[in-house]
Amino acid sequence: MASISEVMAKGLQGGSWVRKLFDEGARLKKEFGEDQVFDFSLGNPFNKPPEAFTKALLEEVGQVNHGYIPNQGIPETRMKVAEFLSTRFNTEISFEHVVMTVGAGGALNSALKSILNSGEEVIVLSPYFAEYDAYIENFGGKVVRCMLNDQFEIDIEAVRQSITPLTKGIIINTPHNPTGTILSQENLNELGALLKEAEEKSGEPIYMLFDEPYAQLIFEGEQVNPFLSHNKVILASSFSKDLGIAGERLGYLALNKNTPDADLLISAFVYAHRTLGFVNAPALMQRAIAKMPDLTVDASPYKVRRDKIVEILSDAGFEFATPKGGFFVFPQAPIADDVEFCRHAAEKYKLLIVPGTGFGLSGHFRLCYSVPLETIENSREAFISLYNDFK
Ligand code: PLP
Repeated sequence: MASISEVMAKGLQGGSWVRKLFDEGARLKKEFGEDQVFDFSLGNPFNKPPEAFTKALLEEVGQVNHGYIPNQGIPETRMKVAEFLSTRFNTEISFEHVVMTVGAGGALNSALKSILNSGEEVIVLSPYFAEYDAYIENFGGKVVRCMLNDQFEIDIEAVRQSITPLTKGIIINTPHNPTGTILSQENLNELGALLKEAEEKSGEPIYMLFDEPYAQLIFEGEQVNPFLSHNKVILASSFSKDLGIAGERLGYLALNKNTPDADLLISAFVYAHRTLGFVNAPALMQRAIAKMPDLTVDASPYKVRRDKIVEILSDAGFEFATPKGGFFVFPQAPIADDVEFCRHAAEKYKLLIVPGTGFGLSGHFRLCYSVPLETIENSREAFISLYNDFK
């Protein structure tokens, strides 16, 4: 008799490459010492949260009771988020259309639970954050993979081919994990026009789940505005990366005022959030956010790291699209077998990078440069030797 479900057994077997490397990294660090391992595997913020956050948090500790709070989130926090988003996107987002969630992961799960009937399809654009598969399948949805083009832009014709009468949504992520690229407004508008055309044909809504936990980490190019491209945008994001509080698990869902059935969708998000067992997003974190004078962050420490890793990878001979945001880069591996390439990097150089296969695009590897600057600087020789091993 099996002790765990078939779905879970399959999930565990596949596992996450990032998590596997995290374990391998911990083992190597224990055996050889922290400074001997170049760990570029996990997408963790390297920095401390802004002082304003820590100050607000400390002011709240000991001052408040720790009972349940409104499932949707503390009104003052939602107001702060609504104001922040309304300014960023130059659109009207009411605090009544914001739900505080357990990270962007929790946000996506609540949104998918709210919109998916069993067997309905969600398009994901490869390469992509692989957890999307589990998130979609959690609610009986079917994952439909569609490749980005070789510039990592949305291939409109490929998406057109992927749409069926069962399509319920498409997940868009910019700045992008794993490539660090940023979509253009034009590309997003083309997608919006396609979704509208498909909706008119089927008479059914297709949601754009706009996943943007790296939204403020942009070095070049414009912030794109999904609300200009489609009228059924579900914005999912978090403070995990922007504020560097990934472990505190605070995110949000938001809709703008043009979204059809916005109130109904929000009620569904809150119900989903509650019945998934999250109940409410971390209360103390919400209180700290509400007290911060403003939620904008400075991306320049990430840009310094981006510039350094780009220089090292280019000098070593790797080919890649220069990241414009987020904290990842996704070079081509010099051999087709990216798993073997990453295994070799870990074994010979204690260089932890993640195979592209884990993101749905083999022949590449992902590197997270949200690490101390000296780790990047010290990795130069390792990257040069690694590349030369396969020349
Ligand atoms: N979406 C993308 C593209 C991510 O890279 C991540 C985390 O790495 C998430 C969602 C989940 O973010 P959170 O930690 O806020 O749940």
